[in-house]
Amino acid sequence: MKHIPTLQRSTSRPRKLAALRQAHQDWSDSADILTRLTRRLSTSLSLEIQLGILAEELSDTIPFDALNYRHRIGHRDFVYVTGMGGPHRCEYRLSLEGVHYGTLSLQRRQKFTEEELQGIEMVIGAAICQLRNGCHYLAIEQAALTDSLTGVPNKRALDDALTRDSGLANRHGTQYSLILCDLDHFKNMNDEHGHVMGDHMLRLSAEALERTLRTSDSVYRFGGEEFAILLPHTGEAEARDVADRARHEVGKLQVDAGGRNLVITASCGVATYLADESPEQWLARADEALYRAKKQGRNCTRVFATLS
Ligand code: GH3
Ligand code: MG
Ligand code: MG
Repeated sequence: MKHIPTLQRSTSRPRKLAALRQAHQDWSDSADILTRLTRRLSTSLSLEIQLGILAEELSDTIPFDALNYRHRIGHRDFVYVTGMGGPHRCEYRLSLEGVHYGTLSLQRRQKFTEEELQGIEMVIGAAICQLRNGCHYLAIEQAALTDSLTGVPNKRALDDALTRDSGLANRHGTQYSLILCDLDHFKNMNDEHGHVMGDHMLRLSAEALERTLRTSDSVYRFGGEEFAILLPHTGEAEARDVADRARHEVGKLQVDAGGRNLVITASCGVATYLADESPEQWLARADEALYRAKKQGRNCTRVFATLS
């Protein structure tokens, strides 16, 4: 085996390690804004936390009254606002390698000086790579919680929401209702008109359900041809009305299939959250009500009635 002289490497290594130790010390102790900013930004992939850090570091050097950031990520608008605006405003379209990563604006009472504007650009320039990572992370997170066919949140998102809302209901005593909405005889739709038409109907149904709701309510694709609707601050009677409106909206859909008008109906099961029950029990009661709606002729709503 050939012997490789290592003398030079062995003497320079301790020096390099010492230099690395020093560099690390300088890096973590550094008081300069850009080093501190990038160091802090690298601790989180959450766009919200990153923008909070950016606002904090920026305001240290360049005072402002409001910072506003918006970006369309996936199917949703991500908006971050801190502070209240003023009449003077500067706005930046953030982009890296030709890709847009949102719009950031600052507002305040006094005009921004040319020097300050240059400073803001420097800070944004130092932050942009981390913000891009935050945008990508949010997009991936959203994709994992979104149904790719209909664009509405998926079963995983529903599980998270049920856990969150049952916790809120227990803590604050507010009423939450859940509707399960299943398209009737949907297998026939696929069998007679094909899967492409079936998929089209599913997309239209999701849109129809979303049209029915207030902004605080949300629709989820629970399974194949089954949707869930979560209604905060809503009791049994009101949830039943919403379910009937949702069914009505689905029933209004008309699709032309080669001269034949296709229509569908839906059945709904409603359950209002009961104190201390688990999300699974809540869901099971809505499913039980849906089962009854199917058994009692479909195209109707049944409520898992509670005694209260
Ligand atoms: P019911 O009224 O009892 O609910 O009858 P159904 O035919 O709707 O219920 P069933 O559970 O027997 O069949 C559900 C059908 O939904 C079968 C499946 O082909 C269809 N389906 C599920 N997911 C999708 C999808 O992503 N795209 C399409 N095109 N069809 C789907
Ligand atoms: Mg069905
Ligand atoms: Mg079903």
